[in-house]
Amino acid sequence: MAQQLVRLLGVDDFRSELSRKLDLLERQIDSELQKTAEIERCNNDLERFRESVNKRERLEHVCESICPGTVRKLTPRRDVPTYPKYTLSQETIEALKTPTFDVWQWAPNEMLSCIEFMFHDLGLVQEFNINAITLKRWLLCVQENYRDVPFHNFRHCFSVTQMMHGMVHLCNLKAKLSMTEVVILITSAICHDLDHPGYNNTYQINAHTEMAVRYDNVSPLENHHCAVTFQILADPDFNIFSNIRPELFMQIQEGITELILATDMARHEEIMSAFTCCVDKFDYENIEHLRLLKQVLIKCCDISNEVRPTDVSEPWVDCLLQEYFMQSDREKFEGLPVMSFMDRDVVTKPNVQIGFLQMVLIPMFEAVAKLFPELGEVMVQRLREARARYENLLQPEEIDEERSF
Ligand SMILES: [Zn+2]
Repeated sequence: MAQQLVRLLGVDDFRSELSRKLDLLERQIDSELQKTAEIERCNNDLERFRESVNKRERLEHVCESICPGTVRKLTPRRDVPTYPKYTLSQETIEALKTPTFDVWQWAPNEMLSCIEFMFHDLGLVQEFNINAITLKRWLLCVQENYRDVPFHNFRHCFSVTQMMHGMVHLCNLKAKLSMTEVVILITSAICHDLDHPGYNNTYQINAHTEMAVRYDNVSPLENHHCAVTFQILADPDFNIFSNIRPELFMQIQEGITELILATDMARHEEIMSAFTCCVDKFDYENIEHLRLLKQVLIKCCDISNEVRPTDVSEPWVDCLLQEYFMQSDREKFEGLPVMSFMDRDVVTKPNVQIGFLQMVLIPMFEAVAKLFPELGEVMVQRLREARARYENLLQPEEIDEERSF
């Protein structure tokens, strides 16, 4: 009776239908659960990816804000130097030895060829057994590590190096100094502003940039130029000193560091007063005297633009003011102190140069000319003429200001 009733009501069919539907539902739930787990995994992966991207962006942003342009390769690699071979004419070779050389008329590859020539001409390639291809690679790498800023760019490096080459010839330094000292002078000139960001030490310190923090506010830029110099030389592809004894390399490294650090103008008084004390009784056998001479020579070359003919020196003043204004505009924007000589609302070309010539350049070149009288006419006299030229450019209201200065 009961079986009949079950059959009549279709309970068996209902049960099997129910169990089939339950199976289906369970499978669907399983599949949904798997999908949820998969989505969860994807979400986690995505989150991790986002975090790493954000972290990298934050790092790059910090680096960029501290020091624009830092996020880039420091030592680009090229197996074969790509600058074309350039043969210097006899006229160029002679001009390279003089302070009247026009540094503006040379394309980047030509500047490289000129510096390469100086290494050969001064006998440095032979003396230090420098591989000629490594020299080309190194120069190319140095060039690529100067930034495209208005003043402290590769042309400034070229200009300072050419003036050093000129000094070596004019003062007959090869007869007075060792080859090690000559290679220190030339290499320091080439590397002295490597990776300069276009903002000076005052900005680095006031803005608490990473560079200033790293070097405890002591010559942050110059310490950075040294670090980049030796970072490049640490790569065997660029190490022009790979064929010399390690002790000699250490001596060269120490010499280069001393000279690059001496280019910090904050140390001007310290270096000049020490040099002035020893110049009258200068002794080429005295290591301390030689160290001071090399420091003063690189300082002279670094700020030697006014020694050059007017059509060569004047564009440099525009470049310098452009870089100053770039900094002071940023300082105003960031609420940092602004120095008046950098302020576009205060400074003019003549008043920035007259003070610099009077207080810094003329006394420094006069001190060096005591040791090398041959510089008196070609350099000191040129500086006095430049001061007179700028004085003629002063506006009447500026003349009063200069007098009170
Ligand atoms: Zn410089």
